[in-house]
Parts: sequence; C-alpha cells; structure tokens
Amino acid sequence: MKKVVVIILSCFLILGAILSGVYFIQKPEHQMSYPTFLEAVQQHKVSDAILPENSNTFEVILKDQPNIKYTVPNPKTEDFIEYLLIHDISVKYRGDDTSKAMQSILIVSIIGGIFWYSRKGGNSNPLIKNANKKKISLIKSKRQALSQEAPRITLAQVAGNVEAKSMVEDIIQFIKEPDKYASVGARMPRGLLLYGPPGTGKTLMAKAIAGEANVPFYAMSGSDFVQMYVGVGASRIRSLFNKAKKSEKAVIFIDEIDAIGKMRARNVSASNDERDQTLNALLTEMSGFHENQGILVIGATNRLDTLDEALLRPGRFDRQIEIGLPDMNSRKMILSLHAKKKPLSDDVDLDELAKSTVYFSGAMLENLLNEAAINAANESNLVINKNHIEKAFYTVIAGAPKTDRSYITERDRSITAYHEAGHALATTLLLPDHFISKVTIIPSVRGAGGFNLSIPKDTMYQSKRQLLSNIQVLLAGRAAEELIFGEGEITTGASNDIQKASSLVIDYVNKFGMDPEMGLFSIKVLEEGLDKISINKCRELTNQLYDETRNLLKENRSLLEKITAQLLEKESLNSEDIRQICA
Ligand code: ADP
Ligand code: ZN
Repeated sequence: MKKVVVIILSCFLILGAILSGVYFIQKPEHQMSYPTFLEAVQQHKVSDAILPENSNTFEVILKDQPNIKYTVPNPKTEDFIEYLLIHDISVKYRGDDTSKAMQSILIVSIIGGIFWYSRKGGNSNPLIKNANKKKISLIKSKRQALSQEAPRITLAQVAGNVEAKSMVEDIIQFIKEPDKYASVGARMPRGLLLYGPPGTGKTLMAKAIAGEANVPFYAMSGSDFVQMYVGVGASRIRSLFNKAKKSEKAVIFIDEIDAIGKMRARNVSASNDERDQTLNALLTEMSGFHENQGILVIGATNRLDTLDEALLRPGRFDRQIEIGLPDMNSRKMILSLHAKKKPLSDDVDLDELAKSTVYFSGAMLENLLNEAAINAANESNLVINKNHIEKAFYTVIAGAPKTDRSYITERDRSITAYHEAGHALATTLLLPDHFISKVTIIPSVRGAGGFNLSIPKDTMYQSKRQLLSNIQVLLAGRAAEELIFGEGEITTGASNDIQKASSLVIDYVNKFGMDPEMGLFSIKVLEEGLDKISINKCRELTNQLYDETRNLLKENRSLLEKITAQLLEKESLNSEDIRQICA
C-alpha cells in the first residue's frame, strides 16, 4: 500500500516540477538589479510587486511604466513583504495558473493519500489513539502555561550589584504606585539605562524590576530593529510599544540598544535613514506615553561610549546605572546563589573559588557551576567535587571571549590599588562627611582601572575648605603613586583626575573669587580665556595642593598600605571597611 502512494505522489511531483520549469523559461524579461529596485522604492516610483512563490526572482511594475514587468532578484529575507507594504507598494502573490492547478491536485492527492493510509494501515487501536490525543493536549496546555506565566524573577535572584539594586528600588515603587508619586508632583524617569560588560546580569536585573513590580515584561534586542529596509525598524518599535501600552503598566526592555544608535554600513543606500527613523520612533514613543503611567523603558548596552547622545537626554534614558563585573564578595554571593540547587562535596570551598575567579562575569560563574555539574553527571557522581570544578574552569575560560583578563598584570593591579587607596584615604581624612559607597580595583566600562564612588554630603553650597579638599582628593591618586613607586614611575592613570582638578582650580581662582591674591575679580567673563597671571596662579596653587596631599599620605602611610592590602585582597571596599581600617 505504502509503495503505491509514494509512486503516485512522486509522479505528480515530477510532472509539477517540469511544468513550472517550462513556464519560467518561456517568459520574456526586463531585468532590474536589486539596488536599482531599492532606489526606485526610495523615490516612490514602484506601484506593484508580484511575488511568485518559491522563485529566485519577483516582478515589479513602476508607476510610470505600467505595461512593463521588471524581473528583480528576490532577496528572500524575512521582512521583505513588510518592507514593501510599509512603502505603500501593492503586493500580489502569483503562482501561474497551470502550476496552481498542479498544486491543488498535489495537495488533494496528498491529503487523500494520508487519509487513505491512516484508515488502512494506521493505528486501529482506539485505546492507543486516545492516549495519543491526551498526550498532545497535555503538551499543548503545558506550553501555554509556560508562555503565559514564566516564573517571576525577583531581586533576590540578582546577587551582588548592591548599588544598582538600591538605585532601582524607587523605580519599582513608582511602577507599582505611580499615583503616589504623581500626587506630590514627582516625575519618574521614563528610561533606565543599564550598562556594563556582557553577562553581568543586565537582562536579569530588568526582569527582576518587572517581577518585583509585578508587571508584564516585553523584551527585544536592538539588533532586531536594525533592518535592511527603511521603516521596518520604526514600525517594530511602534508595535512593541503598542503591545506594552495595552497592558497599562509594563517594563519594556531593549537589549543592545547601541544597535539603534549605531548601524553598520552594510546597506549603503538606506543605513542613515533607517537608523534615524528607528531612533526617532523610539524617542517619539518614549515621550508619547503619559508621564506617570507606569511604563518603564530599560535599555542595556555593553558600550556606553558609542551610544547616541540623543538617547541620554533628560526625559529619555536619564537614569544610568553601571552594572560592573563582580568583585570577590559579589562573586561569592553569585556562586552561592547558583550552587543552591547543586549538591557540592565538602572539598569545594566557595570562598576559595570566588578568589580564583577574578574578572569572571555572573554569567561565567553560572556557567562554571553548570559545567561542573555536567562533569559530575558524566561520571555518574551524585555530588560535584573539586575536580569537576577545576575541569569546568578551563572549559569556561577557553570558551569565554578573550577579555581584558590577560592585560592586567600584578604590577598594574598594585598601581591601581595604591592609586585608589590614595583617593579613599584622602577622602576619609579631608572630607569625613563624605560617604564612600565603594572603592574598587575592578575596571569600569568607562575606561578607568578602578574607581572611587563617594557621595558628598547634601549641602547647598561648597565652602572654600571643601573645594580645596575636593581638589586634593582628586590629586591623591597620583600622589600615592609617586609616594610609593617614585617620581619616575607615575602613570597615565591619573589623567582624568588631573583634568577635573584643573577645572576646579580654575573655578576656584576665577569663578568663585576665593584666592586671596587674585581677589574677587573674575577673568572668566572675558571671552578670550585666562591670562598669563591667572594661569600661573592656577598652576602654582595646584602644585602646592599636590605637595600637601603627598605629605598627608606620607604621614598616614601605614593606613595607605592597609587600605591597599585590603583592596588587593577583596577587590572592593565600602564605607564601613574603610572606617574600620582607619579607626
Ligand atoms: P547581560 O544581560 O548583562 O549580558 P544576563 O542578565 O543575560 O547578562 O546574565 C546571564 C546569566 O548570568 C543570568 O541569567 C544569570 O544566570 C547569570 N548572572 C549574571 N549576573 C548575575 C548576578 N548578579 N546574580 C546572579 N546571576 C547572575
Ligand atoms: Zn584616580
């Protein structure tokens, strides 16, 4: 039986193929290249597109030559039809009549054949049939359940990232109770930008925000919007926002948002237009919804530097949060979290593991434990032991992109540690009111080797003494380098500090009128810039402050050494750590 059906079917197939082949060979053609076609679309010259199914070409009719059908190579991309429709081109689908007839015959005979086969040779046991049916409906309902309510993710599932977590707390409250904020006239950020290296948990954080606020989560990647065709990206943005707006409160997540800001010049004719249209659509949508509606747009990027300025302006992604690589303590927390469901043997020491995984991202740590679990299972072992982890270590490192891990030498680490310890110590000694939220030697995405995050006490004015102390704190990184490594060994790591210090000194002398010698007269109001006397004064003052700072560190050298040693060990310290060291 089976054989007969197969033979009949193949006869029809072969006949169909021959007929449609003859049809295409016979046709006379006007050719048009694909780029010419794209250009014609841009100039609104195209009226119709006729798409034969499964062909390598399609036909185009131009508005000014309605009697000629041009044959154009078919790009066969996913959104081609959407592209045509967006440009107001009427789209027709055509198979030729003979091949259509052939198709109907084919379909009828296939259906007939299947029906026939299932009646004759198919399973005739009603019990098994019913069981199968049940199985199918079970699978179906399982799928539905999965897509409808993916498990809610909470902030508890994000380990480490303490600063970032505290920075999103009020945003979550706002999504929950927008009215509470509106009633006191508070305008919450519409957009939140998470930036940091890949795998640090930006997506996870976005999901957790939606989960904590208990609102739907709509996600897309910036690269989904970057299309060959003008208008497709913009229309996708609109439909994404429309979907979100229907559920009133929502979190919209756009990963790789830099793709919308920057586009590769693959398609020369349309790249700029496309980029601008998509970006504009995003900005328009973001300003479109009501301020206190409870919709939050979260963007994520690995590369803050390439991001379009327009995205960062107020009312857009105006709250920016760095999600950095985890330090030792955070790595321990991430490892513990992911080890919860994994039976570890007694010889596994998570503290030790956290220590030896410098510059691992959260995703790499998760991956490490997973690979170790696979190793254990491969050996039919019930617990994960040290060897499994060691083996996994190399898999993860070899599989990971060759990141910055290699270029950070012990010497660089030590220089960074002294430099940051210098800033931290100067802050503690000179500005005891400041809250040091974090000192770290984990490199930041902004290019710094390490950084100090200190929050000044909230006051309206800065006193002369505070201003001078601020300048000294900025100079303290370089001062520590010189004090420890010698004058010939100072590094370029201080360039940013020096710039900031200089502009503060200029303001001190020329804007705030605080230098007794230069007096109240402000040279800055003159358009030409600073005169020689003023420049010399600034330089003199900077050098004097620098000397004072270096002496200060010298007098407190033992504290500097202690902070540095702790930094080298733990990679980052908080206010409490510093206070304890200096107590
Ligand atoms: P990103 O969006 O920054 O590239 P993801 O959010 O996609 O990173 O992280 C990938 C996975 O790595 C997460 O699903 C999670 O399993 C793990 N992970 C990353 N960071 C953390 C973290 N801070 N705490 C717990 N797990 C993390
Ligand atoms: Zn510095």
